[in-house]
Amino acid sequence: MPPIKLTVALPIFAILVCFNLEQAQARIDGTVRGRIRVGDNRFTVTGVPPATPLPQVTVKRVIVSVRALGVDTNGELNVINPTFFGVTDSNGNFNLQWQDNTRNNVPTTLHITVWFDSSTAVGETGTTRPAVLFRVGSVVLGGIASADQSFDRNVNSRDPNLGSLTAAANDETAAYLTTDEFFHNIVRGSSVLPQRMPGLVVKTQVPNFNFSFGVTPLSHEVFVAAATPRTRPMVLAHELGHSLTWNALDLNVAPIVPLTDYVFPPGGLAPEWKRTTREFSKAAFLEGMADAWAVVWAFGSNANAIFSSGSITFNVESATAVNSAGQVVLDCKSVINAHEFPFCHTAALMDLLDNDGAGNGDEVNLSIATIANTLNRFNNCVGNGCLHELGVDALNHHDFRCNANGSSRRAQIRRVWILNGINGGPTSFCLP
Ligand SMILES: [Zn+2]
Repeated sequence: MPPIKLTVALPIFAILVCFNLEQAQARIDGTVRGRIRVGDNRFTVTGVPPATPLPQVTVKRVIVSVRALGVDTNGELNVINPTFFGVTDSNGNFNLQWQDNTRNNVPTTLHITVWFDSSTAVGETGTTRPAVLFRVGSVVLGGIASADQSFDRNVNSRDPNLGSLTAAANDETAAYLTTDEFFHNIVRGSSVLPQRMPGLVVKTQVPNFNFSFGVTPLSHEVFVAAATPRTRPMVLAHELGHSLTWNALDLNVAPIVPLTDYVFPPGGLAPEWKRTTREFSKAAFLEGMADAWAVVWAFGSNANAIFSSGSITFNVESATAVNSAGQVVLDCKSVINAHEFPFCHTAALMDLLDNDGAGNGDEVNLSIATIANTLNRFNNCVGNGCLHELGVDALNHHDFRCNANGSSRRAQIRRVWILNGINGGPTSFCLP
């Protein structure tokens, strides 16, 4: 009996059409506020584990996104809501638009993601992902896994304040905190580095990694082994120091070749160096410089830095290293060939950077920018003192001094090299 069928079918059709029209017009939007924080799970530079529970810190300058989770109306058509991006400010706060095209009224559910990618675009918000200053990701088979963490929150108002969203502390959050501090306190102090360092990727959880627990083969890549960002944050800061140095020199690839540029320890099967091992002048200077940037990260430029590694305590100002039995294992000011010990270069470079006044030794107080600019002055050639000089004594402390701007600054640097015992080594090409 066809007429009956028709009377049943028409209302259903009409309901579906009306419902879909209403669907197309549905929309609610607003702005959501909150604060990203995380437990600071990093050991100190003297190896002291973090307190329990972990001290909470805000996550600054990190990329955050929000998307409303749309209602799934018929099991088939799931309207995709737009994703909005923003960057937390220096207190970890974010303020983002959101939009739900599947509802007419709150409540709805917001899906917030913190990416552990950093950006300088603080305050901007929109559907375009902000440009990345640096990003953190873990090494997985075939690539890098993003370090993102998400939070779903039901909201009853259009402009909710979610309060603190606490990320789970892990290697990646530790790496983020250190790298953010490194960029904010050191990289930003230079004129050339903020143009060159953006796009850096910190790669964590590197498997089968047994090379001093970190390596920086390319200027925009830093590798660290599992746990290292938490338990040895200075190793990450050291690797960031290499990246800074390569970028200041304007090199894309590290000028150190591990297989040839380090003096292998007796019986050593792999290239390895320590702060107190004798190395060729290039490796000694460049490793000492990476450590100097790590010291600046940990202590600032002017503090009397003392840190320990293994069983050895390093006193940067006195340029000495002492073992757990109290014996001096390295005294740069008296050891023969101090220029071959990485730690002696760290001590000397810190004397360039610190603000010791008259009577306290060096009386030189160069800025981070001056050190970076001096590296930037290496000429693009292959001779002595050049950017592409060959051999195990290339890019050493004398090349650095000779590329400094002006004879009075070169004389200042020479005085500091003498003060720390490192003025020996291969012939330099400049006077003074
Ligand atoms: Zn290194």
